[in-house]
Amino acid sequence: MQSNRRVFLMSVAATGAAALASTAARAQAQVDPKDAQAASLGYVADATKADTKKFPKYAAGQACGSCALYQGKAGDATGACPLFAGKVVSAKGWCSAYAKKA
Ligand code: SF4
Repeated sequence: MQSNRRVFLMSVAATGAAALASTAARAQAQVDPKDAQAASLGYVADATKADTKKFPKYAAGQACGSCALYQGKAGDATGACPLFAGKVVSAKGWCSAYAKKA
């Protein structure tokens, strides 16, 4: 029990360090859905995989590419989003802060 917990904590620490290292290496890295903020917003790189139990506001057809906060150009695979400074989100992604572009 104790050793399982230790292994788990070590792997969490290692994952975090790797994520930080790769963020530093690539300024425009894609948001990792497992990042704390991404997870709390329910971000997924593929909108169809949105957790509809946790985020029932998701409706089919919603995606970053049609969100008012998305800053990528039409046709771009990824673009910036002010909620995730320094990273890019997938045009096909989604999070619970989605607001339809007017
Ligand atoms: Fe995508 Fe909009 Fe959420 Fe940003 S706020 S991650 S563009 S759905």
